[in-house]
Amino acid sequence: MKKYWIITFGCQMNKSDSERIAAGLEKDGYKPASKMDEADLIVVNMCSVRQPAVDRIFGLNKKLSQLKTTNYKLKTILTGCILKKDKIKFNKIFDEIWEKPKKISIPSKFIPISNGCDNFCAYCVVPRTRGRLVCRGYKEIIKEINESAAKGFKEIWLLGENVNRYRSGSVNFAKLLKMADDISGDFKIRFMSPNPADFSDELIDVMAKCQKISHYLNLPAQSGDNEILKKMNRPYTAEQYIKLVKKIREKIPDINLSTDVIVGFPGETKKQFENTVKLFKKIKFDIAYISKYSPRSGTAAFRLKDDVPIKEKKRREKILMKMLK
Ligand code: SF4
Repeated sequence: MKKYWIITFGCQMNKSDSERIAAGLEKDGYKPASKMDEADLIVVNMCSVRQPAVDRIFGLNKKLSQLKTTNYKLKTILTGCILKKDKIKFNKIFDEIWEKPKKISIPSKFIPISNGCDNFCAYCVVPRTRGRLVCRGYKEIIKEINESAAKGFKEIWLLGENVNRYRSGSVNFAKLLKMADDISGDFKIRFMSPNPADFSDELIDVMAKCQKISHYLNLPAQSGDNEILKKMNRPYTAEQYIKLVKKIREKIPDINLSTDVIVGFPGETKKQFENTVKLFKKIKFDIAYISKYSPRSGTAAFRLKDDVPIKEKKRREKILMKMLK
């Protein structure tokens, strides 16, 4: 029996896609290898959002070449978010490049409800790699949640790059959550990633009232400085973000709050970074995912000078890490 190995970089969407690819391969008679060296097929599901992920793909080149010398039948496939310019280079490393993960329609506990994004945050390649926001029909999603619940999944994730911008006819994201909550079964619903700018009062109310909606929330702030937020093309201010968190905590006192932050965005001064420190002090996040800014071609920020030295980025990262509860 042929064996496969999947390497996933990046976000929850990619994990979901990898799960679907794995299920499709198993349907085709493959089984998972216990280590990469045993595989007949290696699929790399990549994310071009950050340069380090791209660098890691180039780092894999040597390993894949070595494996090919011992297993001449080994097939390698690259899929995920791939920029055109990177694709030319990756063509030399992989046997095949899938522009989009192969569509395999099996129920999954990770359920994409939309794909792409209309926001164009300055540091992000998603609108270019995944395209503009396209939402799945709510009936199809509810059916998939029903099936997943019936299969015994205890946690069902609803995924989208800007998940709370979801809309299908008159069904917005809050209404979709409410419908999912009405499905019988012993499971929790989680979602990511929401944009603070699209977080409505209706959504907060649904989260507060519905039993199955998890009280874990990842709310990416990205920065606590208004000028940097503007440069990032994030459509909210630090004050609006704080106000939103206050509202959420009032209605959902046991909310477990995490955030995403980028340190060392082009031009970020020490004073501007201090505003992110202030935001951390004020909010007291439970968890924070801190990234050191790295330029990605194809993004608006790529035109800006990456002028915060790596040493300083690391210092800022450390300061924020230390502030977590
Ligand atoms: S909201 Fe911004 S960061 Fe998130 S996927 Fe859209 S463009 Fe990228």
